[in-house]
Amino acid sequence: MRRRLVAGNWKMHGTRGSIQSLVSGIKAGIGDIKRTDVAVCPPFVYLSDVGAMVEDTPIALGAQDVCQVPGEGAYTGEVSAAMLHEYRCQYVIVGHSERRHIYNEGDTLVAEKYIAAQTQGLTPILCVGETLDQREAGETRSVINDQLDALFVLEGGVDSLDRAVIAYEPVWAIGTGKTATPEQAQEVHDFIRRKVAERNPGVAERLVILYGGSVKGANAAELFAMPDIDGGLIGGASLKAGEFLEICAAAE
Ligand code: PEP
Repeated sequence: MRRRLVAGNWKMHGTRGSIQSLVSGIKAGIGDIKRTDVAVCPPFVYLSDVGAMVEDTPIALGAQDVCQVPGEGAYTGEVSAAMLHEYRCQYVIVGHSERRHIYNEGDTLVAEKYIAAQTQGLTPILCVGETLDQREAGETRSVINDQLDALFVLEGGVDSLDRAVIAYEPVWAIGTGKTATPEQAQEVHDFIRRKVAERNPGVAERLVILYGGSVKGANAAELFAMPDIDGGLIGGASLKAGEFLEICAAAE
């Protein structure tokens, strides 16, 4: 039985004051969440504050991105996996569609970030998903194929997925209020799991696959009821403690 995960991606939101009350609110309700792993991914500058606030709680810390280069060097503006590890991050999101589309990150760069994260013992949350044009052109599977193939050719290949999480995030559903139906999401989750199973059935069975895209308290339960949806990567709704906890409760 796979353990579920609900991870909040705060994106570029918050102030030192607002994150204090957000984390306090999540901490107040986290005791009721017993069977689901919960993580929050604040902006880099707040990792230290949030890390201190969640210490000795079941809430794990994650980052929203990582440099593809292991170690250190002249990479202005970048943050390494070693630095994230030092700040006790357990997770890091790689290949979020906002990084892929606004910053032109390609599958190869995303795969390098994924490896850099694992090198430091972080669990990458690898985001995959198609745009609306790609879906309408019937290209959903081929897009996800390419995004996953970029991983399979790397050292470690499919076995590396034992130390990773995949998030299926249809780009047309992110921040738009349009959620994929549970059936649409399940179809793609099943496709991902079968694709991994072709290479390693055991890894596929253990692989946690999250759904992301306008998940809210009101629609989480029906999405999480699908057999291959193991939790959620939550954007907007993770900025409200009550709503985020409702989503975590739905995963229980
Ligand atoms: C996300 O950015 O990963 C996301 C799923 O956002 P939202 O929940 O706001 O659609």
